[in-house]
Parts: sequence; C-alpha cells; structure tokens
Amino acid sequence: MTAAIIDGTAVARASRARTASRAAALQARHGVAPGLATVLVGDDPASEVYVRNKRRAATEAGIADFHRHLDARSAPGEAAGVIADLSGDHRVSGILLQLPVPGQLDGTALVDLIPPGKDVDGLTTLSQGLLARGMPGLRPCTPSGVIELLDAAGVGIAGAHAVVVGRSELVGKPMTQLLLGRDATVTIAHSRTRDLAAVTREADILVVAAGRPALITARHVKPGAAVIDVGIHRTGHGLAGDVAFDEVSAVAGHLTPVPGGVGPMTIAALLANTVSAAEAGTASTDQRFSHYVL
Ligand code: NAP
Repeated sequence: MTAAIIDGTAVARASRARTASRAAALQARHGVAPGLATVLVGDDPASEVYVRNKRRAATEAGIADFHRHLDARSAPGEAAGVIADLSGDHRVSGILLQLPVPGQLDGTALVDLIPPGKDVDGLTTLSQGLLARGMPGLRPCTPSGVIELLDAAGVGIAGAHAVVVGRSELVGKPMTQLLLGRDATVTIAHSRTRDLAAVTREADILVVAAGRPALITARHVKPGAAVIDVGIHRTGHGLAGDVAFDEVSAVAGHLTPVPGGVGPMTIAALLANTVSAAEAGTASTDQRFSHYVL
C-alpha cells in the first residue's frame, strides 16, 4: 500500500480563504474587523518566527494586528498588565501569549488571565474545562487542525479506533477530547505505555504528538491506517516529524508530511478561532456560543 499524502498546505490555504471571507462579511455587516493580539516576551528566535508567521497570516486574512513585544526581563505584573489591557480593548477579538515565556514568568498563570471569549489558542483552564465537558468554547489550534485534515481527507472518525501518542495539555489531551467529541473510540499512549507498537497497531487513526523523531515506524502502523504526524524537529536535512515517513508511507492509507502537514493547519485554526471570537462578540448573548467552532 502507498499512502495518500494529506496536503496540509492546500487544506490550510482553503481554510484561510474561508476565514478571510468570514472576516470580510463581519466588516461589511457590522463594520468590525476581527483583531488578533500576539504577546511575545523576550527574543527567542524560534518564537519570533512563529509570531511573525501568525501575524502575517492574520493580516492576509483581514484580521487587524495588535502585537505587543515585552522585554525578556519583564516582571510578572508587567506581563499581566498587558494581558489585562488587551482583555479590555474592544478592538481585540483574540489574545495569544506565545509560549514558552522566560523563567521568571508563570506561563500557565498568564494564559489563565485571558478571558475565555478571547482565548483563541484554547489553552486557558476554563477553555480546556469546556472542552472536557463537551461544552461550546474556543478549541486548541493544533488538535482542531488535525480534525480538519482528517475531514478534508475523507477519513471517517465516528466509530474509528483512534490512538493518540502523547498526553500534553497543548496537543495530546485536547486531541483525545476532540476525537471523542466526534465519536471515535480513543486510546491515549505516553512514555510509560508498555509495548507502544502493540497499542498503535490497533489504530484506524493514529495521531502522533510525542516530540520524538521517527518514533513511529512501519511496525507501529496497521495497514491502511490514517497517520497524522504532529511532531516537528529541525534536522541537518530540514524539518522532520515523529513518524518515519518513507517506511510508514508504504503501510498507511493516509499520511501527513512534515513540513506541509499539521503545521500550516495550526495557524489556519488560530485565524478561524479569531474570527469566531469576533463573530461571537457581535452576536446577542443567546446566539454567542453557537458561533464558536466546536
Ligand atoms: P510534550 O509536551 O513534550 O509532550 C510529549 C508527549 O509525548 C508526552 O505526553 C510524553 O509522555 C509522550 N512521549 C514522549 N516520548 C514518548 C515515547 N517514547 N512513547 C510514547 N509517548 C511518548 O510535547 P507537545 O507540546 O505535545 O508536542 C509534541 C510534538 O508536537 C513536538 O515535536 C512539538 O514540536 C510538536 N508540535 C507541533 C505543532 C504543530 O503546529 N505542528 C504544534 C505543537 C506541537 P509523558 O507524558 O509520559 O512524558
């Protein structure tokens, strides 16, 4: 079997075009441009690149840019003050604190200062609780992007056995909740899982977010499975994922590449969340939650 390669760049492009249309419609109907505030603390080069890419994509989608850059030595009160300012600014639909933050700051506590209606990364304790309860709210971007990729590829989720490798708050845990919400039977594997290959070989859908290069090889994959590689690693030959692409592509039914798979979807989901937050801001209270992407 040779896997169908899921083109995340193309799926993300289509998603961003839909988001741009929604942003334009909001502007036409309500005179409101969605606004995204990115908050970067310090000068970590990788974080600078991520934030620059998010801001550029937002601007291209018709989302106003409210960037705040804080000094690496910023005190907790200063960072909290910036988030409070942005929370009260009606032009700002969504706030994203780029993680990780420097050591003197508590990233989790700062994220929790973001109001749930502006939590476009879906990472506050409240947003994660809403997700766990299956209640409407803004959902974490990377797992949302994975669901969109599966849908775009025509992979059936309801009733499928999905195995998620990784249990982080950022990817693994919300991924399992979203898959459950779509009626998959979900198994979570992690670093203490005994016989990982025996578990992953049961998967119709295998989502890998372990942060371990080439962890998943052909022997981990059931023939015909859909394999989604969330991992990103910089190697001497460019970017690579958690899946040994060449050998797994000979076994899987669908497979995402790295780069060009999940990565572009994360930004597309962020833009979609920002417009959802802006739409909810213009809706009446009882309509509000129905605007969120579930
Ligand atoms: P993380 O916080 O380090 O979590 C990794 C998870 O994988 C943990 O739950 C860990 O288990 C598990 N794990 C580690 N080694 C394992 C092994 N040998 N077998 C089974 N499970 C193992 O990482 P993360 O933030 O979730 O990110 C995961 C990867 O996705 C990274 O490469 C990251 O760069 C990438 N990523 C990509 C995007 C994107 O847009 N494409 C977005 C976010 C993250 P324990 O809990 O037992 O330690």
